[in-house]
Amino acid sequence: MRQHKLSLCRDCFLVWVPERVQRTIGKFRMLLPGERVLLAVSGGKDSLSLWDILLRLGYDVDGLYIKVGVLNRDYSSLSQQKVERFAAEHGVNARVVDVAAEYGCSVPELSRRRRGRSTCATCGLVKRHVMNEAACEGGYAALATGHNLDDEAAVLFQNALNWATGYLARQAPVLPASHPKLAKKVKPLIRLYEREMAAYALLQGIDYIYQERPYDKGATTLFYKDLLNQLEQRSPGSKQRFYLSFLQARREGRLLPATAGRVDMEECTRCGQPTTAPELCAFCRLWEVGGRSRE
Ligand code: AMP
Ligand code: ZN
Repeated sequence: MRQHKLSLCRDCFLVWVPERVQRTIGKFRMLLPGERVLLAVSGGKDSLSLWDILLRLGYDVDGLYIKVGVLNRDYSSLSQQKVERFAAEHGVNARVVDVAAEYGCSVPELSRRRRGRSTCATCGLVKRHVMNEAACEGGYAALATGHNLDDEAAVLFQNALNWATGYLARQAPVLPASHPKLAKKVKPLIRLYEREMAAYALLQGIDYIYQERPYDKGATTLFYKDLLNQLEQRSPGSKQRFYLSFLQARREGRLLPATAGRVDMEECTRCGQPTTAPELCAFCRLWEVGGRSRE
């Protein structure tokens, strides 16, 4: 691993990864021992490996799989199977939320009704809402996701290209529960490269779904990931420096004023989740299109 100036054998690598996650959790004060965690698991290498790691570290972690109802049925049922198999093999709980069954309409259908908004944007919005709701209702101390260093660096690159200061201010390893109906959100894999996570999953024998998911928010994000990988090739460690130095500069107040990204929150008049919009939150507004409400 040229990025860390480190070479490890299989056995040491399998110890090093969980240790690095534990140090990340400690450094950013993500979780306290004994806290109940809800982990959003997609069936991919990152979230399934994170589940494995958090359990090894002794955390009490339940999984949440969100069935969005994608066009490619095989992809959807296969990823759900991977999550359920992992839960059964490890004797842990996996909660499945089926968007169509719970809210009356699948994400692709919803997105067809909402012309102008991409399926990816709709899917992201729905997932964030469901994740937050499940974490709050289940009384979990935190909601964890499997975002890795490459994911975060690509988002940072995109936000920096646009100097989107609001997004830059809120792109954080930990987002505190700033409202009773807002779960604390943590990303324990932010100091691990995507390649390291793939290696961990492979060496640990974790059975994950390889395929990229069908609607990739991807085209743009993948393009930025590719650019950053070219940079990394030339200068190992640059991806990590780009992201981690951003976090440090922001923490030390060298980047943005303390008030950047601060927004006033109201409660959505339908679901009660906090929102910056007056009356209905973006999730509830989704269901209003075409004059159909989900109630
Ligand atoms: P992605 O946006 O697909 O890169 O996923 C980022 C993170 O969101 C994953 O590591 C998971 O923690 C979570 N996630 C993505 N898709 C799902 C899903 N269908 N159900 C539950 N969690 C998900
Ligand atoms: Zn709402």
